[in-house]
Amino acid sequence: AKSEGRGRARTFEPAMMMVLEQRELLRRSLRVALQHGEFFIEYQPLMDCSGSVAGFEALLRWHHPMMGIIPPSAFIPMAEADGLMPEIGQWVLEEACRQAMNWPPHCMVAVNLSPAEFLTGGFTDRVSQTLDTIGFPAERLELEITEGVLLERTINNLDTLNTLNVLGIQISLDDFGTEYSSLSYLKNFPFDSIKIDKYFIKDLTNDAKSQTIVRFIVALAHGLGMKVTAEGVEDQAQAEWLIAAGCDRLQGYFLGRPLPASDVLEFLRRNDTA
Ligand code: C2E
Ligand code: CA
Ligand code: CA
Ligand code: CA
Repeated sequence: AKSEGRGRARTFEPAMMMVLEQRELLRRSLRVALQHGEFFIEYQPLMDCSGSVAGFEALLRWHHPMMGIIPPSAFIPMAEADGLMPEIGQWVLEEACRQAMNWPPHCMVAVNLSPAEFLTGGFTDRVSQTLDTIGFPAERLELEITEGVLLERTINNLDTLNTLNVLGIQISLDDFGTEYSSLSYLKNFPFDSIKIDKYFIKDLTNDAKSQTIVRFIVALAHGLGMKVTAEGVEDQAQAEWLIAAGCDRLQGYFLGRPLPASDVLEFLRRNDTA
């Protein structure tokens, strides 16, 4: 058994080294990706249940010069761990607001926040300065935060969210139901909407438990005066079920895939009934 173990170690080691080296390579190129202009944003439509386009969610992409397009799940955790997210997040906010200036006035833009960004001192000042500089109305900006973001420093978090709310920025609670789901957040924090995670949507039309959970979240949100967005809507049956259940906004491949900025106006021409 001992020699077997050693043999296995010998065959696995080079592969492990490769993985580690690749991670280190990725990490090093991540540090300069912003300066090299390798990030770009795709915009995924948020449809309101009447069929008009409520806005678009900004989704970060990295075009690595050698490795091609790298999805956020492969680099955001690394950027977060290396302390790069405040700077990258600020870039996303500016870029998204600048691009959304070209959209019709009823279209909002939703930007995801990472914990580090939100927790860095002066965050609300930077957001309001960015809006001023670009001339983008606060009412057309939505910030999506996850419960994980709120986990630490609760008092300051409440101040931060209240300040954003007073500025007129919309705040949505992302990935609802997948993390800690402490209902106390809903009582204390000024959310305008809740996003039901795609985890509850994927088997919705044939799973009674998912249906119960989705109906519960809709009733909870509406009872608290919040709107509900369902994400990850992939087919017509799901869309119809969610509209009948009272969801306010739908998002997912069935409604529209993430688009390059240059395709947003064309999408609006084809799909917007507003
Ligand atoms: P998220 O905020 O929950 O975004 C939704 C993810 O689901 C996106 O993945 C989107 O492309 C994908 N999606 C949309 N419709 C469907 C569908 O119908 N079916 C399925 N299976 N998936 C769908 P993406 O773009 O890979 O982003 C992954 C995560 O990375 C996001 O999850 C968000 O947490 C994070 N992220 C993306 N951009 C940013 C950013 O600018 N800042 C921060 N902090 N996080 C970001
Ligand atoms: Ca999101
Ligand atoms: Ca508000
Ligand atoms: Ca999600």
